[in-house]
Amino acid sequence: MEQAHIGVRGFVRDARNGAALPDVRILVAGINHNITTGRFGDYYRLLLPGNYNVTAMAEGYTPMVVTNVQVVEGKASELNFTLAPLAADTPAAAAAAGAVTSKPPTATTTTTATPASPTENTAAHTGNDGGGAIPENSGSETSAESGSSTSGSAADPASPPAGGGAGAGSGSGTVATEPVEPEDFRHHHYQDMMLFLLKYSAKCPAITHLYSVGKSVEGRELYVMEISDNPGMHEPGEPEFKYIGNMHGNEVVGRELLLNLIEYLCRNYGVDPEVTLLVNSTRIHIMPSMNPDGYEKGREGDVRGYAGRNNSNNYDLNRNFPDQYTTITEPRQPETIAVMNWLRSYPFVLSANLHGGSLVVNYPYDDDPAGRTQYSKSPDDEVFKMVARAYSEENVLMHNGHPCEKLYPSEFFKDGITNGAKWYNVPGGMQDWNYVNTNCFEVTIELGCVKYPHASDLRSYWEQNRRALLRYMHQVHKGVKGMVIDLTDGTGIPNATISVDGINHHVRTYKDGDYWRLLAPGVYNITATAQGYSPMRITVSVQEKEAMEVNFRLPRLGGAGGLSGGEGSDPVTRGAAELADQEFQGFIRRLSIGSGLDQLILDTSATATQGSLSYHNYQGLSEFMRGLNLNFPKIVSLRNLGQSWEYRTIWALEISNNPDVPEPSKPKIRFMAGIHGNAPVGTELLLEFATYLCMNYGKNPAITRLINETRIIIVPSINPDGRQQAREQQCNSTLGKTNARGKDLDTDFFGNASQRVVEAQPETRAVMDLILEKGYTLSVALDGGSVLATYPYDKPVQSVENEETLKYLAKVYADNHPTMPGDTGCPGESTTMNGGFLRAAEKHSHMGSMKDFSMDFGHCPEITVYTSCCLFPPADRLAALWAENRKPLLRMLVEVHKGVRGVVRDKSGKPIVGAMIVLNGGVRVFTSEGGYFHALLAPGSHNIEAVAEGYQQQRQEVIVSAYQAAMSIVIEFDMDNRIFGLPREFVVATAAASMTALIVTACIIWCVCSAKSNRQKDGFHRLRQQHDYDDEIHLTSMGSKKSLLSHEFQDDSESEEDTLYANKM
Ligand SMILES: [Zn+2]
Repeated sequence: MEQAHIGVRGFVRDARNGAALPDVRILVAGINHNITTGRFGDYYRLLLPGNYNVTAMAEGYTPMVVTNVQVVEGKASELNFTLAPLAADTPAAAAAAGAVTSKPPTATTTTTATPASPTENTAAHTGNDGGGAIPENSGSETSAESGSSTSGSAADPASPPAGGGAGAGSGSGTVATEPVEPEDFRHHHYQDMMLFLLKYSAKCPAITHLYSVGKSVEGRELYVMEISDNPGMHEPGEPEFKYIGNMHGNEVVGRELLLNLIEYLCRNYGVDPEVTLLVNSTRIHIMPSMNPDGYEKGREGDVRGYAGRNNSNNYDLNRNFPDQYTTITEPRQPETIAVMNWLRSYPFVLSANLHGGSLVVNYPYDDDPAGRTQYSKSPDDEVFKMVARAYSEENVLMHNGHPCEKLYPSEFFKDGITNGAKWYNVPGGMQDWNYVNTNCFEVTIELGCVKYPHASDLRSYWEQNRRALLRYMHQVHKGVKGMVIDLTDGTGIPNATISVDGINHHVRTYKDGDYWRLLAPGVYNITATAQGYSPMRITVSVQEKEAMEVNFRLPRLGGAGGLSGGEGSDPVTRGAAELADQEFQGFIRRLSIGSGLDQLILDTSATATQGSLSYHNYQGLSEFMRGLNLNFPKIVSLRNLGQSWEYRTIWALEISNNPDVPEPSKPKIRFMAGIHGNAPVGTELLLEFATYLCMNYGKNPAITRLINETRIIIVPSINPDGRQQAREQQCNSTLGKTNARGKDLDTDFFGNASQRVVEAQPETRAVMDLILEKGYTLSVALDGGSVLATYPYDKPVQSVENEETLKYLAKVYADNHPTMPGDTGCPGESTTMNGGFLRAAEKHSHMGSMKDFSMDFGHCPEITVYTSCCLFPPADRLAALWAENRKPLLRMLVEVHKGVRGVVRDKSGKPIVGAMIVLNGGVRVFTSEGGYFHALLAPGSHNIEAVAEGYQQQRQEVIVSAYQAAMSIVIEFDMDNRIFGLPREFVVATAAASMTALIVTACIIWCVCSAKSNRQKDGFHRLRQQHDYDDEIHLTSMGSKKSLLSHEFQDDSESEEDTLYANKM
């Protein structure tokens, strides 16, 4: 039955009046079976999945062919035809007839030796309406490729403003002709736009690739036309550029300009040297409409209205991105998510986002910490001003600086550009998100005072903006570009950091080690750093012209960051590293045996905060977290993981000596609490624990050292909505146990789509994203209702691969807790306590727990600690509970340094990222950046194996001590001993499994809840948004960053979940 939904369906209409055309023959090339349209012009052509050329033919009309129609499994592709009458008497009809219209030439190609200067061009075209147009000749549409006639003189290099070497390079030998101008000037509704894009991807298959990044709320595709000499692939060293139009649905000029641009690039490739060079040297992505739903609600002639501005859920997409200064509480929209994913999947360097309602280029930042309307400088202010001017200087009216004199007579923008926040402060915008979260620099371009002008004006918009659009694209070639390369073997280093002295904004290398750093002319010191390598600094003088190529060849770090036994390290360094290692062993040993920890607690009692413990409601908790962040900024960073149903933030605190720097060589531990809102003791214990650590940093050497050597993540309240409902002194009440929708979050963690029937709760999603960040060595979750430590799994399983290790971890907590080792249990509890620890399923077996998810998808063991029999004991009990749990909590900080750790690299010392470490033939962890791994193991002898693509499996036996810190081991793969087939598949399969986990989480997209914003969205005169959220805080918003990382893998994965993910966009 499903087959019935495969094929093509749609309507055929008359181009003049839109009337339905019945009895139109629908032909599919290569299939000798035709159908005809029904009474309403409707048709349905069943087809197997594949690509087809479909033609609609009717008596008295020009036939229309649409090539490359994609039929996929599951849902019929929609394809509508608009047929022009044979005597095409109106231009609109002719244009609507599409690709197969064959018209006699109406003008001849003029050949000029020197391209006109931009202003001349504009003038020439304005006065030359229609006359200078070059006919579209479908019969020999390769006029683009056939430009082989010669005209001697090369183009004057100075003429196209940024054309730099436009007559040179690939342009040599081609004619310096007047570029072919687009002809299609009208408004394109969704279907029309789709056909336009299909038409040009069929017309210029060699340089185009049409794809979609997701769907709008109403299911419209968010199409992107890629234009490049090698479409569909990233070429190392070639920068990627994007234009996004129509983000506000009623601001339509950008949409049409981008369609014009597609036509222009397609038709001038191989004809016009500037276009040819640009397409050959740049990978250009053009999204004509980011808000296709809103567009359909807009009205022609709208000057400054709002109808259609927002998306279908009535959210303003340009207020919907995570903000660096403000918490955006509105649910993230499918269009926003799709674009965020898109930005994570390509190494974009430069972008512009096209709007309407004014005439100016607006550059970051769009807001400032205080929400004031004043200049908010980004570290790259000079670059932004440079690229913004590149646009405005080519648009005479814009450059004038008086955008809409009739509407806003007092407004003036010098040079036609403005800093966003200086114009008006707006949080949640797309351009800032680009800059803050990716390598991409984006500006917002306001194209004119009328948001939805009449179709007859579209040609003049093109003429006014053609040079500007091109010149802005050339800006992607400014500054510095090059490679970061491993000195030893010459391979590129991905994810290396490129930093510029004096500019606090880094970019990172892409997969092949290639990078682009936009810079204004000047002299700069540029440094490349990468995990496992010595950094390198080069002084560069950046010129006005083409980007300068600067390559960094980084030497490998011999000792690999303090690890012992590094190959190639000189004896002195090596000796020092070994000494440091031994010293650290001693430190961990002292804290592990005898009274080491007790002594530490005694030493810190003076600075302890005991007695000040109290319960914090959500407001209080948020203030507390901010307070820690503000008072200890060097070691504390605060993150917003996401929002609960009732828009409470789920906070995470990182305590580390470099809180925002990923330091893969250090173990990472997670403390979680408050998954059940009615058991808030854990929340308070973690706040106290965080305070204790911060207060003693720099005072107590042991605490200082633990913080320096560990990355500590604390999430005190997973379920803030439930917590808000719970009442003090309710020892057994279930009020607040669940979230606001009545869901027990500890039954909501499913990593597998087949197990999940409904979307994850927002709280669960936030926490799953955190867990899937990977790199965690241990997690400790605090809960209430018993005095006990449990270890995985919660689900009923026959056997657990590393049960000894898990049991050991729970036992360590219990042993360090004064009352846990007892066998008494809480009143009414029947289970035998067995020393204070249990396998979780023996306490209460259930599916979908956080602990199990952490094990299976986060590759991190998690133990759950029940801190008191009473779920919500009176506040005066808190001090005693802290006293009981302080030592075991600290002990877990010590414990996380044990087990086995090391680095995986090849014989030449190159770190191998993503190698799989198999412990005792079962449990797996993966190496992170720098080739590092860390896994906890029960004391004793263990087998570890390392598997990496293209290398022979390595096996090693390690002895783990209960007292010693993990000895770092180096696993070295022999380059010359490659074996084929098996290990590669093995690795790919397991990698795919972990990707699946990531993707599934990402697929559980933020629910678009129906709560419509009742705040009236402002127009282009963005009124300062009310800062009425109590969460307003200046922190780096990283809320959605994590889940999106999974998308990076999407290209490589073909799992079912992947498809699901794509569909859900
Ligand atoms: Zn806009």
